Amino acid sequence: MRVDGPQGRFTDADVIDGRKLERVLAVGKHLGYDFGKDRILHVHLGLQGDFTEGSGPLPPVKGALRLRMWNAAAVKRPAVPGESKRHAWYSEDDGTGHLDPEQIAWVELRGPMDCSLYTQAEWEKLLGRLGPDPLNGDGPEKMIAKVRKSRKAVGELLMDQTMFAGIGNIFRAELLYRARLSPFRPGKEVGEDVLRSIWKDAGGLMPAAMIDRRIVTTKPPDRPHKRGQALKEEAHYVYRRNGLPCFVCETTIKKQEVAGRNLFWCPTCQAEPSSVMRG
Ligand SMILES: [Zn+2]
Repeated sequence: MRVDGPQGRFTDADVIDGRKLERVLAVGKHLGYDFGKDRILHVHLGLQGDFTEGSGPLPPVKGALRLRMWNAAAVKRPAVPGESKRHAWYSEDDGTGHLDPEQIAWVELRGPMDCSLYTQAEWEKLLGRLGPDPLNGDGPEKMIAKVRKSRKAVGELLMDQTMFAGIGNIFRAELLYRARLSPFRPGKEVGEDVLRSIWKDAGGLMPAAMIDRRIVTTKPPDRPHKRGQALKEEAHYVYRRNGLPCFVCETTIKKQEVAGRNLFWCPTCQAEPSSVMRG
């Protein structure tokens, strides 16, 4: 692989340029490009980071380009018609128009929260901090034990990467909705069976999103269009649907900031225990 950092902020490109990329690790929200010999390129996209990929020759450098990686032989091949496409926000990605992996000759990285070189020890230290990851075949036991000890709201705990590695803002809102669980329920009051079913649900939704390159959490019978692919506006139950009626009960979806990010929920389907009791 050839590697450079046109923007000048990634200064370790020389250390991995020209080396063989042995494997790519993905744990929670962290990516590790393992170039062997204690050289792991760590990438965390954060809120602004984004990859572009393409076929054919490298395009001219544009914008704040933190990192480029390319295959010297592949960039000599002609571009595939339709070729490069900037990844849209995942929530807005309709899953179409992407290149087959074998056609990708280069990738560009812009705006990540982190792009730096880790040693094996540093990578392992990071793994030690992260909770189990439903995409990596981990079991939920550690997560269950931690959540059930906490007084914090489950909506906050789901975003805590030391409990549940890889869950982002869309999955937080959608998993809670699908469990019909109030985001404000304290962790210690959430049943073990509920946490297990959330874990299992994440283990189905997350790989599907990875393959489809879009997150769809609604079940076909709940969508306004019950047949065919989910339209963009019916892909989620609550995420960014504040002010709109719930697909299931027609209550207006609400929004509030929890753990630094907007949380969306249906006050009826995800009623708090006290209001359930009040009937
Ligand atoms: Zn509802």
